Amino acid sequence: MEQSADVLIVGGGPAGYAAALYAARSGLTTLVLEGAAPGGQLAAAEVVENYPGEPEAVEGWRLAERMRQGAERFGAATVLAQVLALHLTGPEKQAETTVGAFASRALIYAAGAGPRKLGVPGEGALRGRGVSFCAACDGALFRGRDVVVIGGGNSAVSEALTLSRLCRRVTVVHRRDTLRAERQAVQALERMKNVDFLWNAAVEAVEGEKAVTGLRYRDLATGERRRLPCAGVFVAIGRQPETALLAGQLPLDPACYVLADETTATALPGVFAAGDVRAKRLRQIVTAAADGAVAAHMAAAYLEGWNV
Ligand code: NAP
Repeated sequence: MEQSADVLIVGGGPAGYAAALYAARSGLTTLVLEGAAPGGQLAAAEVVENYPGEPEAVEGWRLAERMRQGAERFGAATVLAQVLALHLTGPEKQAETTVGAFASRALIYAAGAGPRKLGVPGEGALRGRGVSFCAACDGALFRGRDVVVIGGGNSAVSEALTLSRLCRRVTVVHRRDTLRAERQAVQALERMKNVDFLWNAAVEAVEGEKAVTGLRYRDLATGERRRLPCAGVFVAIGRQPETALLAGQLPLDPACYVLADETTATALPGVFAAGDVRAKRLRQIVTAAADGAVAAHMAAAYLEGWNV
């Protein structure tokens, strides 16, 4: 049987739980549909040092858990379920999930973003067997071993720093000859004695049968194909929004982020987009949480019939 609420929230990260807190606290019945464990990308962050009100570094999972508890204190409920399909165009918004169907008149889409994939052979097949997208989650499995980090932005540098404290050798593999990460972070990485850089390298495959044994790449300067042995491959080449469920229903920008301004209102009445899924300039925990508060306010106003 279909379960209904005033507001359905898809995604249990900072945007989702901030929306849930504000919606539940304003008296709306509120359900958060969350795929795995609550927290989204935040739960995978080793430490967070830039969330206002947290004077000490706090583990991502701990902050995520506090956000969930804060929303549930006011009556929001979490349903652990994978959303399989969304029907958003009518006045009733429906979600088909692995644990049944849900319906509401207002829906806040806060599904976040996931790691961008390289799309090379071996990456998918060896995921969890040497290929990882999260050093804070999986780094300890590679203690004392040789790993590579692919990418040249802030994520790659931050992943490499985390791994350099655990692994024997960390090689940052980048398709250019300079990093685009912040200077301070790059300098910290350059100070690590067990980190080196492989420039102008285009990864062509991750090798291994049962587990990763190495990387195949093309040297873009010489055109030569080479192999780099390693036990772990950490892919850190940016993020992509989790918006596949919205395709054909909502306008997205060229990078597939939901087009919604700071009101979080989308092109569909009663549907709001909050957090990293929304087209915006700065994707941070604090901006995701702010979006969630705005989205809940807008959803409440929509349900009241105000002209928003
Ligand atoms: P990013 O800044 O977009 O960098 C992605 C990197 O991956 C670039 O170096 C890019 O190379 C490379 N890349 C992209 N697609 C690739 C492919 N198919 N094959 C090989 N390399 C590929 O992404 P990010 O580092 O994940 O950062 C995302 C955002 O979060 C940024 O705004 C970043 O500043 C922020 N962030 C901040 C911190 C912090 O501590 N301040 C930490 C993490 C992330 P090219 O340079 O050649 O395009």
